[in-house]
Amino acid sequence: MKRVYSYRKMKKDLKKLSFCYPELLRVFRLAATADGNQIYGMALGNRKAKNRIVIQASMHAREWFNTELLMQMAERCCRRWKKNASYQGKSYRKLFKNVCFFILPMVNPDGVSINQYGVSGIRHAALKTMLAKYSAKDYRIWKANARGVDLNRNFSTGFANDTRMEKGSEDYAGMRPFSERESRALVKLVFTVHPQAVINYHTTGHVIYYKEDTELVKLMAKITGYRLQKEDESVNGNFGDWLSEIGTDWCTVETCVGKAPSGRKQLFLEWKRNRNVLAALAKMFCA
Ligand SMILES: [Zn+2]
Repeated sequence: MKRVYSYRKMKKDLKKLSFCYPELLRVFRLAATADGNQIYGMALGNRKAKNRIVIQASMHAREWFNTELLMQMAERCCRRWKKNASYQGKSYRKLFKNVCFFILPMVNPDGVSINQYGVSGIRHAALKTMLAKYSAKDYRIWKANARGVDLNRNFSTGFANDTRMEKGSEDYAGMRPFSERESRALVKLVFTVHPQAVINYHTTGHVIYYKEDTELVKLMAKITGYRLQKEDESVNGNFGDWLSEIGTDWCTVETCVGKAPSGRKQLFLEWKRNRNVLAALAKMFCA
């Protein structure tokens, strides 16, 4: 079996990070999912800082590649912060004084477990029965959460419930906006933290989607080398549409090439493109 970066592995790594670097990083639980997993977050930086950025990954189950990537990005910051290394002439201590990153490495842990282990990745009997009823059976390309909803269609802005669509099928939006715990958890985080910007990690395509030309978007393109693509005005209930509606900047970073799930073979190259993202963003807020 292909080596996977699982929910369990992430939990272990989160514990290790919060134990080793308590001054810089704190782990929090945002919400529990239908299958009883936790949506974990890391607050990395100065939690009292006014500058805040939310970064989230693995909203789509088969895109868990980015969970490992974000965990490694966070770890690199911690290591370099402890050594007081520097990035472009600024010490990590200084860089992380005025900013806090709220990083959710795995927004959809139930879906990720289905993608990696099939029905046996789910514990609750009722959810297992529901899953078995869906016609979407190729779990290797599973995108939704355990209730068969595409979380990136479950937001209120432009929400479209196509009743002909079946649960578990690509882009199924759910019965109503915010019907899912995972999308509600994102809303809760945004309204608690009031971030300047939200960065959504998805796969694939080496492209950054955005709506507003901001310094952050330009910087993300410069660091990663991914091409920029402005989104048109159409809306379809995705998280970005909702963020635009409430006036929060965002961009969506599509890592990797080829089809998801992306193999770990791509990790080194994507790592090289993304390893300095947190330091570079922090530098924007550094006096
Ligand atoms: Zn995606």
